[in-house]
Amino acid sequence: MIQYVHMFSDGDRDQKDLLGGKGANLAEMVKLGLPVPPGFTITTEACRAYLSEGRVPPEVRVEVTQRLRDVEDLIGRTLGDSEEPLLLSVRSGAKYSMPGMMDTVLNVGLNDDTVHSLSSFSGDARFAWDSYRRLIQMFGKTVLDVDSEKFSDVLDRHKEEAGVTADVDLTAEHLKQIVAEYKQIVLDETGSPFPQTPRRQVDLAIEAVFRSWNTERASLYRRRERIPDDLGTAVNVQAMVFGNLGETSGTGVCFTRDPSSGHSGIYGDYLPNAQGEDVVAGIRNTLALTDLEDRDPAVSRELRTAMRRLETHYRDLCDIEFTVERGKLWMLQTRVGKRTAGAAFRVATQLVDEDLITMDEALERVTGEQLNQLLFPQFDRDADRSLIAVGMGASPGAAVGRVAFDNASAEAAQAAGDSVILVRRETSPEDLPGMIAAAGVLTARGGKTSHAAVVARGMGKCAVVGAEDLVVDVAKQQIRVGEHVINVGDTLAIDGKTGEVFLGDVHVIDSPVMTYISEGVDAALAIADDDETKELIDAVHRLLTHADARRRLRVRANADTGEDAQRARDRGAEGIGLCRTEHQFLGERRLQIERVVLAETDEERDAALAELLQPQVEDFVDLLTAMDGLPTTIRLIDPPLHEFLPDLTDLTVKVALAEERGETGEEIDRARKLRDAVRSMHEANPMLGLRGVRLGLKIPGLFALQIRAIAEAVVRLREEGKDPQPEIMVPLIGSNRELVIVRAQAEKIIAEVAEAHNQSLDLPIGCMIELPRAALTANRIAQTAEFISFGTNDLTQTTWGFSRDDVETAFFPKYLENGVLTISPFETLDALGVGELVRIGVEKGRETNPDLKSGVCGEHGGDPESIHFFHNAGLDYVSCSPFRVPVARLEAGRAVV
Ligand code: PEP
Ligand code: MG
Repeated sequence: MIQYVHMFSDGDRDQKDLLGGKGANLAEMVKLGLPVPPGFTITTEACRAYLSEGRVPPEVRVEVTQRLRDVEDLIGRTLGDSEEPLLLSVRSGAKYSMPGMMDTVLNVGLNDDTVHSLSSFSGDARFAWDSYRRLIQMFGKTVLDVDSEKFSDVLDRHKEEAGVTADVDLTAEHLKQIVAEYKQIVLDETGSPFPQTPRRQVDLAIEAVFRSWNTERASLYRRRERIPDDLGTAVNVQAMVFGNLGETSGTGVCFTRDPSSGHSGIYGDYLPNAQGEDVVAGIRNTLALTDLEDRDPAVSRELRTAMRRLETHYRDLCDIEFTVERGKLWMLQTRVGKRTAGAAFRVATQLVDEDLITMDEALERVTGEQLNQLLFPQFDRDADRSLIAVGMGASPGAAVGRVAFDNASAEAAQAAGDSVILVRRETSPEDLPGMIAAAGVLTARGGKTSHAAVVARGMGKCAVVGAEDLVVDVAKQQIRVGEHVINVGDTLAIDGKTGEVFLGDVHVIDSPVMTYISEGVDAALAIADDDETKELIDAVHRLLTHADARRRLRVRANADTGEDAQRARDRGAEGIGLCRTEHQFLGERRLQIERVVLAETDEERDAALAELLQPQVEDFVDLLTAMDGLPTTIRLIDPPLHEFLPDLTDLTVKVALAEERGETGEEIDRARKLRDAVRSMHEANPMLGLRGVRLGLKIPGLFALQIRAIAEAVVRLREEGKDPQPEIMVPLIGSNRELVIVRAQAEKIIAEVAEAHNQSLDLPIGCMIELPRAALTANRIAQTAEFISFGTNDLTQTTWGFSRDDVETAFFPKYLENGVLTISPFETLDALGVGELVRIGVEKGRETNPDLKSGVCGEHGGDPESIHFFHNAGLDYVSCSPFRVPVARLEAGRAVV
């Protein structure tokens, strides 16, 4: 029989699939003997059953009854008891952390009777009524779907009438009155009174948490973080402990190391006399954790011991939520903490130095995406800038953009191509769409652990929180700070590392990690101006060096010019995997290709081709010089014709207008001729048309010219004492016969050049695999090809039948929304379909040619998840854009450990 409900004491941290992250970690803390209020976890399996059947499985109720009894026994309080009532928290907790995205209900078990018992048992009527009003408010919002503003309006009115500003200044009498009004709101809005039976409250709250898996913001967060939609959430039901029982109570969040810098120490926020949500919601500004030491040294010591214990046990930075109830510490949650990209690298190497983890493990703790974030530019400290406020740097980066105050305007501005800074007084999870649209997030309230900070760090988005000098007036769409008034659409610059907020634009410069990548460790250390930066450079250097030593995949770059090639080489590229030679003909040189394609006679074509030879030799000399000694794959021209010919509609209109005006003469004749020629070549589906090898075979001389140019460049460079290593690659092969024809032609030309210069030339010839047929017949193709390279852009296009130029905007948003796709297959390789063709291609190719070198040069060559796939598929190299080279090196190393 399936067991849906587990006591915390039954589980452990390895059961995240079943118990969710929070449940598994609570179980682990119980195992470690830390003070955790008793409770149980309802599994993700129960949630999945709920989501598919639309009702909570009846077994869950039965098991909840049994486990509730256990909790009651453990804590010595009973649900609904008239003397010492047990109150419960009901919290979501999925396998992957989704901070603030799902629902939580606290103080479950309070009703018109138990509020009195709580009052006399705690000796604090104010506390009891405050807890009751919190329950109705939270329950009303999340379980009964009542508009939360209705509750906050009542609360605000009472505060105003009482002449107080803080919730804590309301008396028991005020709160009693507020509870009465809240209950009336529930009755008016739902047609039923607020449920008085504690057990019914428990059941409804559990169901609401299950339901909250599918709220819009949770779905959006999952899509963004690539969390599968079908996992479901677990529910943790736990005895309440109270942080709001007066000044010896409180609640807080802490980290075992600084999540921004990675330094060890005590970092966190503490709020005396408050309940959990007050801290993470950023509603009240918190105290630093060090203040707890002064307020209650014993609790502070106990907390520190627990932190150390957890960090040693998890061998990683942990974040912890805790509550102090009248001087007694309770641990409410722990998890391996989210951290900034820089901290991830520093913490990983610090843990190695502390002998807590190995270098291989350290490599697992950092990601290519984090490295990518560290390559982002930063503000130039020497630039002119007007500092108007300083908050907390909650997620690093440098963002400049126009101010927007809500989701809709942030999204609209982003859609219009503007960079946006989303400014909020404090953020709530509802702000997620705006945060996604924004380049940076700025809030006036809240600490480093507020939702804004946690979510922004997770997204790698620059964020400054708690810039208290800012008066954010959303109604007026205005920020006031000192004498400045900043309106919607004005420009602000925020520094997510220092917390600085600048008025207007600020100049940005390269990051020190970028300097390290392109100029080496000594150069970067020499210009680093603080210890933290030095430590970071050292950490990245050690981890990247380790990745290089561990990886089997070689990393090459896609580069079309000598300059790009040099940049790629500086970043560690071990060759070029793709030079798109058609890119050498963009701009003015496009006309040269146009002349070749549209030539009417052999003489015309030969003349046009002859003009191309020297410029092409120079192109290849540049490229091969930059990549001297390293393999350089030069792809023969692959122009989708429509990109290289003038637009047919423009030409037709031009000719028609001229004819209408009765124009005659040479120019109109030429225009007419061009129109007819372009019309004769016009294709309905150019991406499936005369491209790649097809063009090479149809227009004699085009490939020949390029092959000759490559051979001549090699000869020239060798004469200069260099070591050029070109590989000639034929695009869009579908049949081995195509390659046989090109190969024969190429060998002839290479032999001619070799003979003319009295050199021996043996240039490898291979092809791209971009069509399913090529992958499926790779055994035949490998009889002719010395290497293959998967063009996964076209292979994705041709496998799915998706036009790579159109679909991402046309219908992918819909496909992502309804789960047909979880991510664009043009971004991350579709392992099941396109990936299977890659696997078949490599396997079949090596059947006939065991030495067949195989790589990938589509965009996926720089995508972390895809790189792991290519490693497992046994490819020899990935090739990606020069900027992604460091990311690919790191991920190729991570794929091994
Ligand atoms: C590919 O199709 O994956 C490829 C690398 O070629 P291109 O993007 O130039 O079509
Ligand atoms: Mg292609």
